[in-house]
Amino acid sequence: MYKKGDFHLHTTASDGKLSPAEIVTNSKKAGLDIIAITDHDTISGIDSALYQGEKVNIKVIPGLELSTLYNNKSVHILGYFKDPSFISLKFKNFLKEMDSYRVERGKKIVHNLNKFFNINISYENIVKNAHGIITRPHIARAIIDEGYNYSFQDIFKNFIGESCAAYVPNKKLSTLEGIKMLQSLNALVVLAHPVLIKDIDIEELIRFPFHGIEAIYANNSTEDTNKFIEYAKKYNKIITAGSDFHGSISQKDKNLKHSHAIGEVFLDEDGINIFLDKLNSM
Ligand SMILES: [Zn+2]
Ligand SMILES: [Zn+2]
Repeated sequence: MYKKGDFHLHTTASDGKLSPAEIVTNSKKAGLDIIAITDHDTISGIDSALYQGEKVNIKVIPGLELSTLYNNKSVHILGYFKDPSFISLKFKNFLKEMDSYRVERGKKIVHNLNKFFNINISYENIVKNAHGIITRPHIARAIIDEGYNYSFQDIFKNFIGESCAAYVPNKKLSTLEGIKMLQSLNALVVLAHPVLIKDIDIEELIRFPFHGIEAIYANNSTEDTNKFIEYAKKYNKIITAGSDFHGSISQKDKNLKHSHAIGEVFLDEDGINIFLDKLNSM
């Protein structure tokens, strides 16, 4: 039986710092025996993570973190698959489309940074550092690398955050569409990090047909976790735990919301059993 699970990890397939194989190996070192790889809008890291999982003897659940919008606010959905064969070609093509949209979006943000803030960075440099998909942290990194004297937080707060002039949203996929798409693939669908969701009534969201909520999350206070566990009980959802580990990009970024350790929070044996029972019933 599995004893320690982290169900929310990012790799270089999206905006993480470590390769899928490194994430798997480091998870094993951190004492985890079951993990899920959940890159943003891509499953391209899954195969090598599964391969490495076999090699170092740790259970790897294929997953992803889908970006959706609810009332124009960003809502992340975690999808977990029993095995990769459930991921259809149609879905792979959909993710490819999302990816090309992201490229256009990245170019637009670069353009807007110049237009509104006179910040000049090259899109090609961002691509060079990104490996996988282009996300806003990559853009923030490029601004700093270009020599502008701003912190990550400044850049998000003033230039590329959701309410800033240079911001361009991701491809519009509604939260309900996202849930339905994942459910059509028999994925287990979980509301990611409710604690990070602002300006939306959380209970309104939890009533959506999610199977579970990420009640245990690295940014939570104890009160947050207790509250989300109560919600899960109230709405009959399972709970998951995630560190949302991205690999800290540098010492400087230590205070960023994504600088957690692998397995910093985890699901225990009982929680894992409930999760796996649900996943296997899909
Ligand atoms: Zn997220
Ligand atoms: Zn995440």
